[in-house]
Amino acid sequence: MSLESTPLPTRRHELIARLAQPCQYDIAIVGGGATGLGVALDAAARGLRVVLVESHDFAKGTSSRSTKLVHGGVRYLAQGNISLVREALHERTLLLNNAPYLAQPLPFVMPTYRWWEAGFYGVGLKMYDVLAGRAGLGRTELLGRRKTLAYLPTLRAQGLQGGVKYWDGQFNDARLAIVLARTAASHGALLVNYCLATGLTYDNEKVSGLLCEDQLTGKRYQLQSRCVVNATGVWVDELRQKDGLAVPGEHGRATQPMVAPSQGVHMVVERDFLAADVAMMVPKTADGRVLFAVPWLGKVILGTTDTPRHDLAREPMAFGDEIEFILSESDKYLRRAPTRADVKSIWVGLRPLVKPPQDEGNNTKGLSREHTILVSRSGLVTVTGGKWTTYRAMAEDVLEKCAEHQLIASTQAGVTKNLRLLGSHALSDVVSASVRSLSEAPGWHSYGSEESFIKTLPGAAEELCSGLTIAMVRFAARYEYALTVEDVLARRSRLLFLDARLAIELAPRVGEILREETQKDPKVQEFQSLAANYLLQS
Ligand SMILES: Cc1cc2nc3c(=O)[nH]c(=O)nc-3n(C[C@H](O)[C@H](O)[C@H](O)COP(=O)(O)OP(=O)(O)OC[C@H]3O[C@@H](n4cnc5c(N)ncnc54)[C@H](O)[C@@H]3O)c2cc1C
Repeated sequence: MSLESTPLPTRRHELIARLAQPCQYDIAIVGGGATGLGVALDAAARGLRVVLVESHDFAKGTSSRSTKLVHGGVRYLAQGNISLVREALHERTLLLNNAPYLAQPLPFVMPTYRWWEAGFYGVGLKMYDVLAGRAGLGRTELLGRRKTLAYLPTLRAQGLQGGVKYWDGQFNDARLAIVLARTAASHGALLVNYCLATGLTYDNEKVSGLLCEDQLTGKRYQLQSRCVVNATGVWVDELRQKDGLAVPGEHGRATQPMVAPSQGVHMVVERDFLAADVAMMVPKTADGRVLFAVPWLGKVILGTTDTPRHDLAREPMAFGDEIEFILSESDKYLRRAPTRADVKSIWVGLRPLVKPPQDEGNNTKGLSREHTILVSRSGLVTVTGGKWTTYRAMAEDVLEKCAEHQLIASTQAGVTKNLRLLGSHALSDVVSASVRSLSEAPGWHSYGSEESFIKTLPGAAEELCSGLTIAMVRFAARYEYALTVEDVLARRSRLLFLDARLAIELAPRVGEILREETQKDPKVQEFQSLAANYLLQS
């Protein structure tokens, strides 16, 4: 048996007992999304003592609500942001190699309806190939009308001139987050979900650790750490403001908020609306945005939007005009347009866009999509912005910044470049184009090389619904930090994001299994009311 066949248990009482033990950490991270988890893994892999606390579940925030693309960002190319694109293309390859069962290549077809579009976009996408260099996944091709329809048989044919086919990647965001957490833990890091960071501790006006509270028991803990990283996504300003009040900046000035949140809506419909193994990409919709139709886990994701928001809800809701926008734009391109009744799940994510200090934050399209790292007077390190695709590079930048400010010792970067994530052992590099399981309905492929271990757990052959077995729920509770029905149905399995109604129906049964495993309240009713918001009323 390989090392990987015996995963580390994630028993709550043991995690909390470790949290309560006195320890001088090198780095304490607040926030268990892509950014925080990436930093935790990189730091742990360099041999640092790492602790991470997440107020809800890992990836409960933006990191489970992305469009699921591992991409260089064709859009940023159009904006001339070459360095951002080049870095993302490089990171795309690393992720595809390090977690080949969770991140895979995907061809995209951009249909063209005007004579100049194929040439115009074709040149841009050829440049994308050039920038990718050896990291390229396949060549950009200009397609005639017939070939475009062969790739996208449900495309509206009227007025169609042709298309451009190019390559990018797709992934399972929340499962990648869980695997990052588990891989960091396998390198010695302590990660605790449902643990809220409530404040910071100081020694001579310098951050010396953090205060946190177990959300299950209300018990409070004080963690000593040489360095604290605030990786709380759109919520970074909450901790920054507390820090600013404790150690005011020059002339006692209040801390200026750095995030201008913008929300993106996705809708999921049945696969036959796209009936293709390629994604459709519309570069410029009526209001200048990009629209994707992406085959994912047996369904199709349609989205997204980019709407400024001023509140920071944990479960943001779509605005009526965003729903109409996605449906009406889909109607322009798909022969059979989805209606509200066809929507299986609708979910919303908040982008942590970074604004210049004086910006009022009403036009989010112009704000920076690159990540920003700030170190406060007291030494609190805040990182936000960027995208999932570049989480690894962001983590390296954070650790470099921490070392530059002498918060941690200087360590060698690059340790995670070829670090295979759990479940990827014994799998070949980048999955070949013919076995792209991420487009297929959920199932054992979501577990990579851990499948054989999970099959030894009770209930491996008993399906709760297609692709979700009782053994998978037990695995989530025992080895994947899952405590509630929401953890299982939203982020270990992705059922809530694929079919909210079915998730509501299955909740009581999943709850029974979880209660048996954890002896804790699995919060069935709370999940059912939350999941009702993922249904679209017709
Ligand atoms: C609509 C949309 C589509 C996107 N699509 C893509 C895509 O296709 N590809 C791509 O590469 N990127 C995409 N992105 C970007 C990407 O999803 C984000 O950049 C990334 O998920 C941000 O991760 P994060 O860890 O910074 O934030 P989050 O995932 O939000 O994590 C922050 C965490 O901090 C926790 N937290 C907050 N306060 C506290 C506290 N006091 N104590 C403890 N924990 C706390 C929160 O609960 C949360 O889990 C998309 C973003 C959006 C909004």
